[in-house]
Amino acid sequence: NNEQAAAKAAAVNADSGAPTIFDKIINKEIPSSIVYEDEKVLAFRDISPQAPVHVLVIPKFRDGLTELGKVDARHGEILGQLLYAAKIVAEKEGISDGFRVVINSGASACQSVYHLHLHVLGGRQMNWPPG
Ligand code: IMP
Repeated sequence: NNEQAAAKAAAVNADSGAPTIFDKIINKEIPSSIVYEDEKVLAFRDISPQAPVHVLVIPKFRDGLTELGKVDARHGEILGQLLYAAKIVAEKEGISDGFRVVINSGASACQSVYHLHLHVLGGRQMNWPPG
């Protein structure tokens, strides 16, 4: 039926490897509030913050890094760099004493942008379990 067809189309779109809005942010075609940047990693404020501090940490070169569920061994180094960048972001934002790092992988985790990203959240009491 139509609903199933739409769901299937959405799933195909979900991780098509097509450029995402984050490419435009990396290329500075659209503005972002950058918190940290180095050769391989960019960190900028989430446009719809879910906590007083909500920063996204992304690889500048997506290179197959669409979602965590699809990475492979060759991505090990950049994955470590992303996690380390999250720690630097937490320091810069003054939330080193308590913060959360989240990766939504795939549609059932509500991933909406298929360019791997870590959410760094803090500045308030973070509760558990998440939704
Ligand atoms: P996901 O749901 O884990 O894929 O997270 C995607 C995140 O990107 C969401 O928290 C959005 O608010 C955020 N986002 C989408 N577009 C932009 C933008 O243009 N600038 C900053 N953050 C964005």
